[in-house]
Amino acid sequence: MKDQFDREINYMRISVTDRCNFRCKYCMPESGVENLGHDKILSFESIERIVRAAVNLGIHKFRLTGGEPLVRKGIVGLVEKLAQIEGVHDLAMTTNGALLKDYAADLKKAGLSRLNISMDTFYEEKYREITRGGDINEVMDGLDAAVAAGFARIRFNAVIMRGFNDDEILSFAQLTLNEAFDVRFIELMPIGHAENDWRYGYVPNSEIKDRLPGLVPVSSKDSVAQYYKYPDAVGRIGFISPMSDHFCGSCNKIRLTADGKLKPCLHTNEELDLSPILKTGDDEALREAISQAIFNKEEKHHLNEGAEPIDRDMNKIGG
Ligand code: SAM
Ligand code: SF4
Repeated sequence: MKDQFDREINYMRISVTDRCNFRCKYCMPESGVENLGHDKILSFESIERIVRAAVNLGIHKFRLTGGEPLVRKGIVGLVEKLAQIEGVHDLAMTTNGALLKDYAADLKKAGLSRLNISMDTFYEEKYREITRGGDINEVMDGLDAAVAAGFARIRFNAVIMRGFNDDEILSFAQLTLNEAFDVRFIELMPIGHAENDWRYGYVPNSEIKDRLPGLVPVSSKDSVAQYYKYPDAVGRIGFISPMSDHFCGSCNKIRLTADGKLKPCLHTNEELDLSPILKTGDDEALREAISQAIFNKEEKHHLNEGAEPIDRDMNKIGG
């Protein structure tokens, strides 16, 4: 359906949990993280109801994220249920990849269409540092398992931070040369209560692109990433620039938090709590509520105009 600014909203990101096996410095605070209680987390049944209502409103693309979606118990069963809903044309997942080794084959079998793996460095030590304890070898094993399971055109998400991994920009870009991997550079965003220092490491995507001469633009249906490629490369390089280049005008998505709040925009504190409606069992009212929230979606965010970062940490929204 269209919102009040004539944008076609056809994509929903669903955070299935706020929990994570890592504590990435730009995403979550190191300690003092209060996880949502089990009674607050949307049940799989509720997620299914919301997806059915969304499909009715013309939303056909869904992405499961978190927190880390693979730490939610029974995630494969949820994928299987959602993939079977008529009108779900694309069901993807964003993961840190560390648990993929055990899940990739089952996820593929259950009907997951696509995978995004977030990885900000190729080095073991640096990986451990940025994730506060993660093991990059597990991610590599997960990647192998995903490729073996038949996931095509896996996308890597990388957040480049000055002084931390800006010396690896070329290595990321080169991942696309010989294999069907897409690499997407996501600008660091000031969100939630993550460690402040990391906010100053922001590198605009224009700088990253300048450091990758020879790229040619390619057209894509992706509404947020601008894609390029090396002329003979198999994969593509995407730039997601929420800070330097407002893509709000072409935004096609809404978000559902793990505790049942609909967030029409990542960067505003506006949320619609679906829990009371879910308790009533009234699917018509659920559809109406989602439809209203979509219609009233804000025109644009104001982050690059000095607006305060939003309260929720990224793991609590679903990146
Ligand atoms: N745990 C999964 C993962 O890491 O892929 C899914 C959730 S994570 C919140 C989704 C994406 O958000 C990741 O690619 C991560 O790098 C990105 N992200 C988290 N905090 C961010 C921030 N402050 N700025 C930019 N991207 C961020
Ligand atoms: Fe966890 Fe993903 Fe956030 Fe890292 S970016 S702490 S893996 S949710």
